[in-house]
Amino acid sequence: MKLVFATHNLNKLKEVKALLPKHIELLSLDDIGCTEEIPEEADTIEENAIGKANYVKNTYGYDCFADDTGLEVTALNGAPGVYSARYAGAEKSDLKNIEKLLNELDGKKDRSARFKTVIALNLENEKILFQGIAEGTIVETPRGDSGFGYDPVFKPSQYDQTFAELPLSEKNKISHRAKAMQQLIDYFK
Ligand code: IMP
Repeated sequence: MKLVFATHNLNKLKEVKALLPKHIELLSLDDIGCTEEIPEEADTIEENAIGKANYVKNTYGYDCFADDTGLEVTALNGAPGVYSARYAGAEKSDLKNIEKLLNELDGKKDRSARFKTVIALNLENEKILFQGIAEGTIVETPRGDSGFGYDPVFKPSQYDQTFAELPLSEKNKISHRAKAMQQLIDYFK
């Protein structure tokens, strides 16, 4: 069966492809000629993921799964959440997002936070959701230079290093995205 992963990121595609059973032919958005930006304007992570998977199914006819991720900070009532990518503005700058987050948390005692990834699967118009959570805290000063996004300020529980200080292979074992992907993979097994 053909299945689309709603991504242009070939590294992400390759990683998941290797883990899925062989009868699934995994395709990227580029493989199906989808070069337009898929709208991501919903108010929740779940709705964004569902919206992307449905867009591909409705426009191109392929079964599809899509992921969406947000950082939820307890002391900020779950912000930036669904707005994580554009927290400091439409230009989507990781540095500015981190700067804003640290400013908002200045003086706050509770620095607990969690990354949440939701994967929405549209399989013959049946919709199935998978979720992965990574719990942790926001450190006071950015540390490390691997990874992306909020990695330099997110320290997963039970680790002394931030995500940006951990080797990618280690982050990939414990990350929100890895946990959600594992559920999707288990579903197809
Ligand atoms: P997306 O849904 O994967 O595009 O993620 C939305 C935003 O959340 C990104 O722009 C990043 O700022 C942030 N984000 C998602 N995953 C991670 C991660 O693993 N580490 C750090 N930041 C992340």
